[in-house]
Order: sequence, then structure tokens, then C-alpha cells
Amino acid sequence: MKQNVIGVLAVQGAFIEHVHALANAGAKPFEIRQLRDLDRPMDGLVLPGGESTVQGKLLRDLGLFNPLQEMIRNGLPVFATCAGLILLAREIADDPTVWFGTLPVTVRRNAYGRQLGSFSVTDDWNGLPQVPMTFIRAPSIESVSPDVEVLSSFRGKATSVRYRNILGFTWHPELSSDLRPYQTFLKEG
Ligand code: GLN
Repeated sequence: MKQNVIGVLAVQGAFIEHVHALANAGAKPFEIRQLRDLDRPMDGLVLPGGESTVQGKLLRDLGLFNPLQEMIRNGLPVFATCAGLILLAREIADDPTVWFGTLPVTVRRNAYGRQLGSFSVTDDWNGLPQVPMTFIRAPSIESVSPDVEVLSSFRGKATSVRYRNILGFTWHPELSSDLRPYQTFLKEG
């Protein structure tokens, strides 16, 4: 990425952890809270975890939805976690809602139920060994279109994917001190 200036959507949810992780990875993060924040040139966008329904509604209310969708469609590199992944998905299982709809996967919200509401594993990601993965009321990725690359899985389902300009995770790289997912994003973008 040219300048490593990364806009982090900061209307709701776990955005500050991404800001810190990006700074630790050598990027220049800034928070996107309102429309005029989009005037700032950016090399990439982070969509954080939180509540996808609340985030989607706020994006619409703040007038951020259409410009961000346009930027994503035009190839802006995106790093999306959990609720952010739900916002990108082309389909949400058993739910007619579609937000940005730019990532050809079907996700299911809160897929791991109460017992597995929150859990961690360490596994390969994108060919890199021993990456810590924390899941918090995570969605599952139920299916992906053939041109989507699966970067990690758990119990037979994808937990992170790459598609064109998008890296999407059902888990939370920002909750670990392992910066390899961010370094990969900054390098690829
Ligand atoms: N369950 C949340 C949703 O459906 C996502 C959880 C998260 O982002 N940690 O939006």
C-alpha cells in the first residue's frame, strides 16, 4: 500500500483494537465517524466487529453507506471482521437482509450457539502456522462461491476468506498481538 493510511469504521463495536493493531503493524489508521472523514484519501478500510444490524443502520443514517459501498466495489482493500464480514456478505442465512453485498459468501449470524459463544483456537491462516483466532458470537461461513479463497476453517467451515480486494474473518485478529493478518493486508493492498 502506498502510504498505509487505513480508515477504520468507528460508528459502533470493536474499532479501537484495530486502530492499535494497525499502528503496531506500522500503518497510519484514522477513524471514520461521519461523511467528511471520507474526504481523506485512504489506502484501505477496516470494518470491525460489533453488531451488524446496528452498524448497518448507522451507516445509512450517517450517509456513509452508499459512498463506502462504491469504494469497496471500486477495489478499495478491505479488512473485515465478524460483524464487518456480515455487512459484506452477499447472503445471510435465514435472513433477507443484505448490506454491502460485495462478498459472494453466505454467512449465518451467531452460528456457534450459546455454549460456544466465545472461544479461541490456534491454527493455520493463509499458509502461516499458529495464528491465534478468537471467536465472539461469531458468524459461520456456510458457503462460498468458487472464486473465493478459503484462508482458514473450523469444523469444516471457512472462518476467513480472500476475494479480490477483500480479506474477511469470522474471528478477531485485533484481539491478538499476532500482527501477521494485518501485515498481509498491508502488503497485499
Ligand atoms: N453477532 C454479531 C452480529 O451478528 C457479530 C459478532 C461480532 O462482531 N463479534 O452482528
